[in-house]
Amino acid sequence: MPEVAVALDVPSADAALALVDRLTPDAGFFKVGLELFSRAGPAVVRDLRRRELRVFLDLKLHDIPNTVHGAARAVAELEAEVLTVHASGGPRMIEAARTAVEGSETRIAAVTLLTSLARTDLGRMWGPGAPGRSRGAARLASVAVESGAHGIVAAASEARMLRARLPVGAFIVTPGIRLAGGPYDDHAAVATPAAAARAGADLLVVGRSVTGASDPRAVFGRVRAELAAQ
Ligand code: C5P
Repeated sequence: MPEVAVALDVPSADAALALVDRLTPDAGFFKVGLELFSRAGPAVVRDLRRRELRVFLDLKLHDIPNTVHGAARAVAELEAEVLTVHASGGPRMIEAARTAVEGSETRIAAVTLLTSLARTDLGRMWGPGAPGRSRGAARLASVAVESGAHGIVAAASEARMLRARLPVGAFIVTPGIRLAGGPYDDHAAVATPAAAARAGADLLVVGRSVTGASDPRAVFGRVRAELAAQ
């Protein structure tokens, strides 16, 4: 059964820890993203670790190898279990991230194509020769894993195709998870927990459907129950 990390996309440590209080002990794995990290910094990661919670630090690093190496080393010292980098940063950047976390518990997950990017966006960005989502994601995923990423982040709709191409042991993270009938929000593609599991995802990132619910614990329970029923 895939694991589930809850995205704490809130504007303060207090708001994040209030959500954590509502969700623990049912949930034990939390994603700290750019909004929360920009406001609350490494302290919020230390707070979560002090509570013995697992942390997915979604910084989506994308810079020259030396800079990413330094940042990844700092994240490893924070004991985050997963750190994201953009696959489009290229092989040497990913190698630098991997080298920096060697010997720590931190694993590198490379973001292939953001689930908010539709085919038309790729066309606008890369012109007439732009690959479609599947071909683009497959290429980025393969290069990332060959360059040392432990896993990749991809849309659930692309997970099955990627699972078949990636070596055994490379893990797949899927965001854009919605319970049946839920809103798409800013995603071009969403999937239910069951569909993501069937596609071969190892770790589901669930955000607003849980954190925006009036009873987050109940919705988290529904996600887990749907996965357990697979
Ligand atoms: O609220 P929602 O479930 O849509 O949250 C999705 C989460 O997954 C956000 O924290 C977003 O930063 C993250 N995400 C990601 N990679 C993508 C799309 C979303 O990490 N390709």
